[in-house]
Amino acid sequence: PTVVSVSNLARILDMRQKRMMQLMKNWGMEEVKPDLLVLSSEDASLVAVELGFNPVIDDEAAFDIYPDAPPAEPSTLPHRPPVVTIMGHVDHGKTTLLDTLRSTSVAKGEAGGITQHIGAFSVPVGTASENSAIRTITFLDTPGHAAFTAMRARGARVTDIIVCVVAADDGVMPQTREVLNLAKTEENVELVIAINKVDKPQANVEKVKNALLAEGVQLESLGGDVPSVEVSGLTGKGLDDLIETISTIAEVADLRADQTSKAEGYVLESKVDKGRGPIATVLVTSGTLQPGAAIVAGTVWCRVRQMMDDKGQFVKKASPGMPVTVSGWKELPEAGDEVLQAIKGEDDAKRAVANRKREIEKRKILKDVEKINEVRKAER
Ligand code: GDP
Ligand code: MG
Repeated sequence: PTVVSVSNLARILDMRQKRMMQLMKNWGMEEVKPDLLVLSSEDASLVAVELGFNPVIDDEAAFDIYPDAPPAEPSTLPHRPPVVTIMGHVDHGKTTLLDTLRSTSVAKGEAGGITQHIGAFSVPVGTASENSAIRTITFLDTPGHAAFTAMRARGARVTDIIVCVVAADDGVMPQTREVLNLAKTEENVELVIAINKVDKPQANVEKVKNALLAEGVQLESLGGDVPSVEVSGLTGKGLDDLIETISTIAEVADLRADQTSKAEGYVLESKVDKGRGPIATVLVTSGTLQPGAAIVAGTVWCRVRQMMDDKGQFVKKASPGMPVTVSGWKELPEAGDEVLQAIKGEDDAKRAVANRKREIEKRKILKDVEKINEVRKAER
């Protein structure tokens, strides 16, 4: 019989798996066994109907078939690069630091490409970490971290590590505190302090450290567990240290991802390119993206035509942690949109987009009804 996994059904209906399982429980449906997590097509249809969809049972195409093999044991998956966001007070040197890191990545990389500003870039981990499971580090590099904010608002998380840049001549400032608070509230996100501009005569590292301590940041150098490095984004001093520190954290965090499953990821930025049409930088978080794949982001789909990496090279594969610009979009997707590969190709992708559009329309109508009711109430 046709079955559909709970996770796939949740994905098709665009809702969280936990939420869907909770609703199913509320409706008195038999609890799905966590080790099974598959539904018959009849049960799946029931759920869809309850959620206001008009499911079509089509053994061939209506639902994703649960893959032959269950998801792999996490600890057996290959390692993936950590994804890092650099944040901090204005003028403390974020852009300069990113620019220096980016040019370092080109100097160290094998391919003699020219760096492209695509919203993220990879930096190879130095020779000191030859035995490290972490080979590269991915830095998010979106202007104002628009994608970061958008993704957060959608409850998505791609960042593993936040580097908080604090200028050694300026110290802890309001936006520094914001970053420290963010790092505190964000689950599973590690914090690294980069005390920047140490090349300046006015730099006072000790003062910065004390100010951080006063903010409740327990630095490693003072017996705590928050690593800090002294750097100069301008001269490049200490950047090897920063890379080392990040790769060590990543190794301890044991970041892994499936490379064989269908591709998943996030749109970091998007624009219309003169030659290539609508393009979007996609950061793959799981699976492998390849040309020819049908993917969906928000209410837009794409048959992947070409993929270009951050060095401007066309690539045939994008694995987890790897940012690539993707061409082939029918329309422009939005930064922060989740990207999912349609299991069965184009038809699935189109169907998913149609479903999502229908759902959005429905929500709009419901909102209108709500408004009308409110107006009526007020008039009474
Ligand atoms: P952002 O606002 O955090 O992106 O800061 P920028 O990278 O734009 O830097 C603000 C100013 O500080 C610029 O004039 C930079 O040249 C300068 N700056 C950034 N990093 C360093 C550094 O490590 N040393 C020195 N001396 N100046 C720096
Ligand atoms: Mg800047």
